[in-house]
Amino acid sequence: MSSRAFEKWLFGKWGPLEKALAGWTKDVLWPEGALCCACGRITDGGGLCADCLKSLRNDGAFFAWTRSDPAPDLPAWSLRPHDSVPRELIIRLKYNAEARAARLLSELLLPLPPDISFPPDTVVTWVTMPESRRRERAVDHGRLLAEAFAEKLSLPCRQLLLRRDRHEKRQVNLSAEQRAANLTGAFRPKERIAFPVLIVDDVRTTGTTLCRCADALRSGGAEQLFALTVTAPPHM
Ligand SMILES: [Zn+2]
Repeated sequence: MSSRAFEKWLFGKWGPLEKALAGWTKDVLWPEGALCCACGRITDGGGLCADCLKSLRNDGAFFAWTRSDPAPDLPAWSLRPHDSVPRELIIRLKYNAEARAARLLSELLLPLPPDISFPPDTVVTWVTMPESRRRERAVDHGRLLAEAFAEKLSLPCRQLLLRRDRHEKRQVNLSAEQRAANLTGAFRPKERIAFPVLIVDDVRTTGTTLCRCADALRSGGAEQLFALTVTAPPHM
């Protein structure tokens, strides 16, 4: 049985405690580092197996950063379409809260091309998850990614956004208009912001979430904002 199949069999529809126990069992049977973080096959301990690494190297689009600003005053870059190895790593990060996936993603993202740079006093932040969902998943995966990224960029990272917890539907499967309505008033600044802010997120879909976060940061005083996401829709 592959580790993926084992995980599927174990995780099923269990709650957080069962998931934690299942994760622990898995770690005993297949210690972290022994399996590819993207495909789950045995590796020699490099985080990604040779095939997954090769698929990245062979994909000419991998290091093509795309700039597409969701609002005139929000420069936003995404690294690649939402598929293959980065997509798998994002799934590991999102649903298994694997810090290793966050680290690997941050390694794939850097170095940044010379035309993308941030002022030295920039603070990295993330799209805060609703508290009820964070409790359900035990960790805010956006935070893991932002922290891994900030470390690579040698920039400080902290939570700058608070998120309303009620009346919010999952963004998945909502249209652009529904997303906008769903997120109206969802975010507010956690502190007074007198420095540039870089919002790091895993997947960009319509850009609505980034815009709502930017609005909230501006209402807290932020004047200079940037956004980076790992993946974006293929048409971008
Ligand atoms: Zn692999």
